[in-house]
Amino acid sequence: MINLVLFGPPGAGKGTQSDMIKEKYNLVHLSTGDLLRGEIKAGTPLGIKAKELMDQGQLVPDEVVIGMIDSKIKANKEGNGFIFDGFPRTVAQAEALDGLMSENDIAISGMVALDVDEEELTKRILKRGETSGRTDDQNEDLIRNRVKEYNTKTAPVANFYEAQGKYKAIGGVGSIEEIFTNLCAAIDSL
Ligand code: ADP
Repeated sequence: MINLVLFGPPGAGKGTQSDMIKEKYNLVHLSTGDLLRGEIKAGTPLGIKAKELMDQGQLVPDEVVIGMIDSKIKANKEGNGFIFDGFPRTVAQAEALDGLMSENDIAISGMVALDVDEEELTKRILKRGETSGRTDDQNEDLIRNRVKEYNTKTAPVANFYEAQGKYKAIGGVGSIEEIFTNLCAAIDSL
């Protein structure tokens, strides 16, 4: 079993690379952003609450995303493994994830991170906003807010895995294939 955390700021390319990694390693892809957008689309109370925060570029509460991930892990723990995308986004989420994994007698194999600078991120997200229909992708101030949330609350999660000797970072700028090749090398070395 291989359980990966794909890490990086908003717009780093986690979604694109997750799709390719999921195929190659036969993993279950769990994106908290996608799960939250599913709740919004279904108009659930959780979705209505989450949308308010997401539309301001803020993180939704830890308990909410942890609860969503908990049930998905239980449902898929007999498979080849997981690729977590957009989660954990706080140290509290990372600690909770370790707990959920060990409850199911599995563990995180490692975190692989995509490094991309802020100017490139803003450019990419605005471009994605032209077609994604995501309201949080269409306003530069909001995007900067998301990057700020990332820098203050999410970036420390890298140290959490580094302290366990489970962290690898690679450059996230270049062709999709080139980045994928480098990511696979990092995964295989974990
Ligand atoms: P991006 O990586 O481009 O920001 P995501 O789809 O991962 O896109 O996340 C979109 C929004 O969903 C975030 O700005 C945040 O409000 C919320 N969100 C997603 N995952 C989490 C999480 N693990 N914890 C808290 N909020 C989250």
